[in-house]
Amino acid sequence: MVVVMQVGATEAQIEAVIDQLNENGFDVHRSSGTQQTVLGAIGVQPDFDIRHIRLLEGVGDVHRVTEPFKFASRAWKKENSIISVGDADIGGEEVTVMAGPCAVESEDQIERTAAHVAACGVTILRGGAFKPRSSPYSFQGLGLPGLELMREAANRHGLSVITEVMDVAHIDSILPLTDIVQVGARNMQNYTLLKGLGKIRKPVLLKRGLMATIQEWLMSAEYIMAEGNQDIILCERGIRTFETYTRNTLDLSAVPVVRDKSHLPIIVDPSHGTGIRDKVIPMARAAVAAGADGLLIETHPDPEHALSDGPQSLYFDQFEELMRQISLIAEAIGRSVGKLQAT
Ligand code: PEP
Ligand code: MN
Repeated sequence: MVVVMQVGATEAQIEAVIDQLNENGFDVHRSSGTQQTVLGAIGVQPDFDIRHIRLLEGVGDVHRVTEPFKFASRAWKKENSIISVGDADIGGEEVTVMAGPCAVESEDQIERTAAHVAACGVTILRGGAFKPRSSPYSFQGLGLPGLELMREAANRHGLSVITEVMDVAHIDSILPLTDIVQVGARNMQNYTLLKGLGKIRKPVLLKRGLMATIQEWLMSAEYIMAEGNQDIILCERGIRTFETYTRNTLDLSAVPVVRDKSHLPIIVDPSHGTGIRDKVIPMARAAVAAGADGLLIETHPDPEHALSDGPQSLYFDQFEELMRQISLIAEAIGRSVGKLQAT
């Protein structure tokens, strides 16, 4: 249940409502906005008559949240959440592009990529230092030294950083070097990791699991939010279906569905979603047209020799073309994309 207090409700009135909810067996989470206080009452009480709360002084509105996710739901927060990271307002009017290699491989590779994506109008540099690979014999990432190289390259070009955390034990060492923490598809239901990320104060990009329904995905966001971290960015990256001509099936219908069910920003990763370089630009265009708040794109200075995900990594000129094309789509739907500088 969500209790929206009236604008100007006093502290005493808010506390009286919290006491009443606690007495009826609800756990209460409080969110105080600039205008209004909203109380989230968590607990399954199907017979509880919400009029008991509606009649209390200072209460503006009460609604039941029928979905199993509460903080992530539209009923909890009507307006879209905007998450500010450096120069980007993710979920705002501008479509945020996060781009870079699948994995950080060397100082030269990440420096060249950072320089190129920055010149194309990108504000957030992506790159894995800890890589979840299907084979234990594949390149596993450079670890912290790789992340340090990416941080330095990002700083030189005025970019923010997003990187994946695979293990709860790595959170403390990764955190000072990144601006957004990525949870990979394979870890979407790693509840220990999600709870750990609920305690940090940096945004989390939560990828949809390979086999996850949208509801399961939003429940994973809820795990993080229930621990106190409300800054979640959802990322659709394709799900596993019977189709084999693409690496995954990019479920773009997730964009309007999530928009309806949740206030959280949603971005799309057409690189993992298709797994094939020449399918990335069309699906990026479609994602922006569907209303995605951003894109996560893999690009590499030499995709043929990439240590991971080369076949889906864009050549630099293709990436520039992607930025040009999505700018046109964004403009057509009243949004914008970071400005391409002369390259
Ligand atoms: C990645 O972003 O490089 C990655 C491993 O993604 P996913 O978790 O979606 O497979
Ligand atoms: Mn990858």
